[in-house]
Amino acid sequence: MKRPFLFPSRRTFLMGLISAVVGFFSRSTDVFAAVTSLDPKWRLTKEEWRSRLSLEAYKVLREEATERPFSSAINNEKREGTFCCAGCDHPLFSSSTKFDSGTGWPSFWQPLEEAVNTKVDYQLIIPRTEYHCSSCGGHQGHVFNDGPQPTGKRYCNNGVALTFKTNS
Ligand SMILES: [Zn+2]
Repeated sequence: MKRPFLFPSRRTFLMGLISAVVGFFSRSTDVFAAVTSLDPKWRLTKEEWRSRLSLEAYKVLREEATERPFSSAINNEKREGTFCCAGCDHPLFSSSTKFDSGTGWPSFWQPLEEAVNTKVDYQLIIPRTEYHCSSCGGHQGHVFNDGPQPTGKRYCNNGVALTFKTNS
């Protein structure tokens, strides 16, 4: 029997159902991003981000890569000032919370208020807490529980994902 044009085959129907479900969950992710206060101004395409950033910064900020330890001058930065997101300039850390962790990555015991959001990632199979800029969503690093007091936290940041501004 010839199928009328408007009625999809069972297979087409199934494919449609699957894409609807996938679409629903993708949208949920966007809704979640909005709740976690991502600035809509920074919802850029991959191409737009790539044209704004160096390749190294792009890989870290937008693809969650990790820079080589001791590769960033920001690791040795000891002046008073503010460390900002290299993606959008949002202030993330004060120099007063920076410490030398010996890891080769700039390390802080506390971010500025509401500067970063976290999520759990499984890149190394063992769950780790990833954190990113609350303004543009750019990946910054991972937070561990072996930092100094008063928080006991170690925000292990990629230097290429930061810029530094002296207080003056
Ligand atoms: Zn940012």
